[in-house]
Amino acid sequence: MTKEIKFINIFINIFIFIIFFCVITGKPVAAATHDDINLVINNKQVAADVMPIIQDNRTLVPARAVFETLGGNVEWDQGNYKVTVKYDSVVVILKINNKVATVNGEGKTLDVPATIINGRTMIPVRFVAEELGFQVGWIDSTRTVTITSPQKPEEPPVIIGHLTEVQAEKGTSNNANTIVTIQMSEPLKGLDSYSTKVLTSPDRFVLDVKDFLVDSKISDLTYNQKDSPLAAVRISDYDKNTARIVCDLKEATTPIVDLSKDGKTLTISFRTLTTYFNPMEDGKLVVVLDPGHGEATAGKRSPDGSLREYEFNRAVANKMKNVLEAQGIEVILTVNNDSDPSLSERCEKANNSDADIFVSIHANAFGNGSEWTSPSGWEIYYFEGSVLGNQLAEDIAESNFPQIAINNRGIKTTSNLYVIKHTSIPSVLIEHGFYTNLQEVQLLKSDEWRDKVASYNAEGIIKFFNSYKK
Ligand SMILES: [Zn+2]
Repeated sequence: MTKEIKFINIFINIFIFIIFFCVITGKPVAAATHDDINLVINNKQVAADVMPIIQDNRTLVPARAVFETLGGNVEWDQGNYKVTVKYDSVVVILKINNKVATVNGEGKTLDVPATIINGRTMIPVRFVAEELGFQVGWIDSTRTVTITSPQKPEEPPVIIGHLTEVQAEKGTSNNANTIVTIQMSEPLKGLDSYSTKVLTSPDRFVLDVKDFLVDSKISDLTYNQKDSPLAAVRISDYDKNTARIVCDLKEATTPIVDLSKDGKTLTISFRTLTTYFNPMEDGKLVVVLDPGHGEATAGKRSPDGSLREYEFNRAVANKMKNVLEAQGIEVILTVNNDSDPSLSERCEKANNSDADIFVSIHANAFGNGSEWTSPSGWEIYYFEGSVLGNQLAEDIAESNFPQIAINNRGIKTTSNLYVIKHTSIPSVLIEHGFYTNLQEVQLLKSDEWRDKVASYNAEGIIKFFNSYKK
């Protein structure tokens, strides 16, 4: 083709394209319309209070709906008529009726300026596409604007090392009845490098190690020890950068997972199977009482300052100690006088003792702490999946109610409370009432009421022990 013919060809193509465009949009190129236009972002239909419009042959889309759907953050500055969009690592600043926008501080010219329609900032879709790298499309049959995030290239997984050995063996105590040991070729980067979960039907405990794979020499184990909750250990690569250890269990139980100091050994300690739980096995009953917080803890006081939580917690724990010791039960306190050990020190004290159960003593709060609020009542937490924790919680709740004159918020289960998560023995945490509630704080301050709850708590603990006496 000669240059001239080539040029004419291009010209004709452009001309055909313009005609074609008029046909597919069904209207003259220059017309404005407010007919309904749909908006689909990353394959999801978006309902915005102001939908896209075509104005002067430009498609304008609502800035907030588009960027918030994409996971961005949109701030409107009324004084300066300015909208700031933070999306991924990109900061876009648009001024109303101004054709110049900035993208990460760099000026960019819009083909039409951002505008306000029905109180919403509308921006030209072409800007979204071209400056921010999104794919923008138009489906004529459904009059839909589609905006799709750019595909990020998938990064190949970085494998740090391999699981080289997995063993299961009998432990030396009730709290560590069975120990599964996992050796790794390289140290784990930290506690975030592994995650755990408890699954039911059938009962399993799953530990995933990120950025590690399983050495081909490792094989699954079956485990046979009648008082152990462990039945088998299965080891496999879960995906291309995660090694998974599945412990098949005879009952739901939450083991304690520890990472060695050198980061190369994970241990999973299972406590004795519930039906074999025998707190009297060593000839004594031992309770760890954990009065929460300390004198130096910020906040944790009633809005009028008349009650401090640590003082209530200690008073109740000491009263419980007297009642339990009078019944021949040994008591270990996690605190001495006004000391405030860290949560992990409190758990270690329990885990390194021959204690049978752990009871954390607290009072509750709601709101910002400076105002009286209405939430009220008593509640008790045990660790998710713990059969013995649940039993202990039930026994303590039953002895408190209906005797104590307080709202019963009931027995709750959680995997998020540190001290009941990181103690290997059956553990509960009692919230005795709200010191942010004007009526309830009177009870919490009353020595007579403290005596009552301490003896009800002790009664529940004794009931729990009695049901497991062999
Ligand atoms: Zn507390």
